[in-house]
Amino acid sequence: MKYIDPHIHMVSRTTDDYERMALAGCVAITEPAFWAGFDRSSAQGFYDYFRLLTEQEPQRAEAYGIRHHSWICINPKESEDLGLAREVLSIIPEFLEKPSVLGVGEIGLNKNSRNELTILEEHLALAEAHNQLVLVHTPHLEDKLKGTQLIMDAIKRNTNLDPGRVLIDHVEEHTVGAVLDQGFWAGMTLYPETKCTPQRAVDILEMYGKERIWMNSAGDWGPSDPLAVPKARLEMFKRGHQEADVMRVTFENPVTFLGQSERFRTDV
Ligand SMILES: [Zn+2]
Repeated sequence: MKYIDPHIHMVSRTTDDYERMALAGCVAITEPAFWAGFDRSSAQGFYDYFRLLTEQEPQRAEAYGIRHHSWICINPKESEDLGLAREVLSIIPEFLEKPSVLGVGEIGLNKNSRNELTILEEHLALAEAHNQLVLVHTPHLEDKLKGTQLIMDAIKRNTNLDPGRVLIDHVEEHTVGAVLDQGFWAGMTLYPETKCTPQRAVDILEMYGKERIWMNSAGDWGPSDPLAVPKARLEMFKRGHQEADVMRVTFENPVTFLGQSERFRTDV
C-alpha cells in the first residue's frame, strides 16, 4: 500500500532507510530545509546544503523508486543573526526555480524571539512574491501554543497568502483545532516515544477528522523513525479505520496539498 512521507530530512539518513521506506510502500517524500545539527558559519554553507537538497538527494531517492522534493529556507534556529539570515534569503530565489522544489520551508519560530519573527516575515513576503507553497515549523513543548498563534497572526497580518496553501506542522492536541479553524493545513509529526506518538496522532484524527491533515515522520539526525507513517497507518487499521480513510490521510491528502505545485509528482 503506497504512502507519502511529506516531511523527512533524508540528508541525515542512510541509504538503507530509503530501502526500508520503499519496501513499506513509500513513493514520494518532501524534505524541508532545516537546522542540520550545527550552526553553519556562512551563506556559502547554506548554498551547498541547498544544492545537496535539490541535486543530490533526488538522485539517491530515485534509485529506490521514491520521488524526492524539497523546500528551501533558513530555519528559525539559525535566523538570530539577521545579517547572515538576509544573505541566505538573497540566494533562495535561485533555488525556488529548481524542478523538485515545492516552496518555502520549514520556516517558523523556535524560541519565539524578535529576530526569528522578523526573518519569518521576510520569508513569507518571499513566498508571496514568488507564489510559493509554505511549510511551517512550530516550536516544541511549552513554546508551541504561543508560537503557533504568533505564526498564524504573522501570516494573516502581513500577507495575502491563501491559508489553503500553507501547512502548519508539528500540531498537537492543543493547537490542531485553531490551525484547522483558520483554514490552514495541519501536519502531525510522529515521534517514537515522546510528543506525538502514532497512537496520539490517531487519537487526534478521531477527534478532529481527516480533512486538511497529514502525518509525517520528520525523521532527522535525532531520535526519530523513518517508518513512522506506515506504523501510524497500522495503528489506524488496528482500531478499525477503513482502508479509504487510511489512504486519504497518508496519500491523498498530501497529494491534494502538494499538488497545488505543478512540480509535485508521485512517480519517478
Ligand atoms: Zn523538520
